Amino acid sequence: MKKYLFIDRDGTLAAEPEDEQIDSCDKVVFEPMVIPALLKLQDFGYSLVMVSNQDGLGTPSFPLENFNKPHRLIVDTLESQGIIFEQILICPHKSEEQCECRKPKLGLVLPYLKDLNWDREHSCFIGDRQGDVQMGKNMGITPILYDRQKHGWAMIADELTSAHRTATVERNTRETQIKVTVDLDSPGHSRFDTGMGFFDHMLDQIATHGGISLEVTCKGDLEVDEHHSIEDTGICLGQAILKALGDKRGIGRFGFTLPMDEVYAQVFAENLDDDGVTVALDISGRPHVEFDFDAEFTRDKAGEMPAQMVPHFFESLAVALGLTLHMKVTSGNCHHQIEALFKAFGRALRTALSRRGNELPSSKGKL
Ligand SMILES: [Mg+2]
Ligand SMILES: [Zn+2]
Repeated sequence: MKKYLFIDRDGTLAAEPEDEQIDSCDKVVFEPMVIPALLKLQDFGYSLVMVSNQDGLGTPSFPLENFNKPHRLIVDTLESQGIIFEQILICPHKSEEQCECRKPKLGLVLPYLKDLNWDREHSCFIGDRQGDVQMGKNMGITPILYDRQKHGWAMIADELTSAHRTATVERNTRETQIKVTVDLDSPGHSRFDTGMGFFDHMLDQIATHGGISLEVTCKGDLEVDEHHSIEDTGICLGQAILKALGDKRGIGRFGFTLPMDEVYAQVFAENLDDDGVTVALDISGRPHVEFDFDAEFTRDKAGEMPAQMVPHFFESLAVALGLTLHMKVTSGNCHHQIEALFKAFGRALRTALSRRGNELPSSKGKL
């Protein structure tokens, strides 16, 4: 999904003159580092929209021709450096006119607000005034207050491009109440409480070896059996990772093997698109899971986890995440067999989730 930076012009892209009106070309001075910062942000996948109030534009106090020349200079200069604004939205009214389009009112951005097909969670409004901050809030996106000294462009670009991919998914049914939170870019903050010690231990393998943080609480109908709790946790985990992945730009894909004591587990993970278009392998467009467990599990249970719930857990997760997943494990101690599968899955996931650059790893241009 597209993510946007809505950006104020005066005082944010170009320095605001004392009389607060950029009405000639010699008043055009860019804010420090705005060009490299916007290039970096654009590269990171943001689309840009300019949103500006120009008080009394087109009236004798601010004739259109006095606005147009410096405005063109600003836009053309940015464009010549590769910075493209998808749209430039301008309110020409004075505040006393009580129009519907003056920031922080929403008139200018209504077409965007009506479109549900972009990523609110990762979009921002950047501006130098409290009105801009309010505008971000009114739009339901993150407001960022620009301040040349304290919160300049270099800092904003750094913050936005190192933002963690996080998500929370909750699922409440008669059988289970589950909350899963993931942070794909910061390991070490994991917590598990599923009521099943062995399952907690296995989820910890995914987090630890996946290099991610994972918080899972599950209150399930364990008095019936473990089935619902394990299955639904798999679904929520898959949904949470998918949600956190966002537009999936820059992520890797991976095949992996892992020896563990006497057993040998193989995992091959590959991200597929969420609406079912095949991007790799010979699979016709749906999440796909292949288990090749050479030997059956050597016991029915490890801790309170039924061995047959292991493939079911991964299947639930893979379907929710849109994952093509092949898993193979050799014979050996049942605890080791299961643990090796979770560890190997974590390792494969780590590489599949890792980000490098900004390209969509798909020659189809869609993941
Ligand atoms: Mg401003
Ligand atoms: Zn207006």
